[in-house]
Amino acid sequence: MRPLADYHTHTRWSHGKGTIADNLRAGEALGLEALGIAEHGPRLLLWGVPRRRWPLLAQAVRTASQGPTRLLFNIEANVISLAGDLDLPPGPSPDMVLVGLHPQVAPQGLAAWWTYYGLRWLSLLSPACRHRLYDAFTLALVRAVERHRVDVVVHPGYRLPVDTAYLARVCARRGTRLEINCRHLEAAAPDILRAARDSEVEFVFGSDAHRPEEIGRFEKGRDFVRRWGIEGERIINVDWQEKGS
Ligand SMILES: [Zn+2]
Ligand SMILES: [Zn+2]
Repeated sequence: MRPLADYHTHTRWSHGKGTIADNLRAGEALGLEALGIAEHGPRLLLWGVPRRRWPLLAQAVRTASQGPTRLLFNIEANVISLAGDLDLPPGPSPDMVLVGLHPQVAPQGLAAWWTYYGLRWLSLLSPACRHRLYDAFTLALVRAVERHRVDVVVHPGYRLPVDTAYLARVCARRGTRLEINCRHLEAAAPDILRAARDSEVEFVFGSDAHRPEEIGRFEKGRDFVRRWGIEGERIINVDWQEKGS
């Protein structure tokens, strides 16, 4: 298997260790066709890139892209309301919109604040609250996919559980891919299996690299799909014919 593209990598613009140029060099060394700089949307607490910096980030990515590896200006956006609103910043449109649920966001509106911070803590104590939380986050994510052009839903099922089988069917209909996140695979493995079994959804491998040397490291994903018999053709960003790793 040879990785063709890694759409989900971080740099010092959020909480990664390398620069855009470092990530690009790592991608080029692997012969990637495309490499995504996918920083966190502005509403992620602590690590989100503030709204005013996004035009600068877009420019930095555009200036760096010259070589054979196409550099993509992506975003890892947050779902900030129960209606599926995203924290897409002003400025140039990203090449790809990646969307993920993260527990630490500054959401929009009272209902979303209550869900993220009230219901989530109550759900540790009460199964009824757990079910309500599960339904609320499932619907919020599904609405985000239905309302926006979402290219990839990243790490589905990681930290905030959702009905991944339902999400996957909506994604399949919309042409949105689900990520097999090689950084957080253990936690999300049952969700990926459900999605693969219950829908026709396609997948991408993502390294979610926070260091340049983690870019394109899809071995965990490769072993996972082989072990559970997920057809290789459903993962769109690798070449299974070529021996790489
Ligand atoms: Zn994430
Ligand atoms: Zn990430």
